[in-house]
Amino acid sequence: MDLWIATSNAGKLKEFQNMAMSSSLKIRTPKELDFYTSPEETGDTFLANAKIKAQSLHKSLSDKNTWVLAEDSGLVVDGLDGLPGIHSARYAGPNARDSENNAKLFKMMGFKSPTNRSAHFHCSIFVITPEGKELHYEGKIEGTIGKKLAGTGGFGYDPLFIPNGETKTLAELDPSFKSKNSHRSKAFKLFLADLKA
Ligand code: IMP
Repeated sequence: MDLWIATSNAGKLKEFQNMAMSSSLKIRTPKELDFYTSPEETGDTFLANAKIKAQSLHKSLSDKNTWVLAEDSGLVVDGLDGLPGIHSARYAGPNARDSENNAKLFKMMGFKSPTNRSAHFHCSIFVITPEGKELHYEGKIEGTIGKKLAGTGGFGYDPLFIPNGETKTLAELDPSFKSKNSHRSKAFKLFLADLKA
């Protein structure tokens, strides 16, 4: 069964591919559509942005008899009043690199609240079914912001996020850790469970 995923983020895509490995899902992406451009993420919640992405991709597909999934996710840092949150991808500016976003996060934490380092990743998934029904799922993982970057795995803020109960960052832990425990995996598993039901 085809599942279109509205993402151009290579890190996210790899994780979805890992998580879907044991299912019969065939993941397809907007890369196949030369004419497709990602919509602006103008929502003020993760879910609103996931919906914008899903509806935009759905609109572009000539065959609507398929599954479309979009997700919006980000890092919510308590000591920064919830930032970068929905602005995670562009915290250090439009088209910012992961390294620039990480550097800005450390800088802001130094200014604002160096002691409260608790944080979580949030993921909202929005699905449009072949019948046009809309479904949504949420997932999160709690942890703390490390004092320095560590590890080379994953993407985004992974080198500075230490999940609760662990001593290593997401970028140091084996990728199977994220497949089982991440915000994205928790939301995606809820979708997979509904598919099987
Ligand atoms: P989106 O593509 O607008 O949903 O932006 C997601 C951004 O949040 C990414 O570019 C990362 O900066 C951050 N992010 C989301 N999920 C993760 C994750 O699993 N690890 C690290 N960073 C993440």
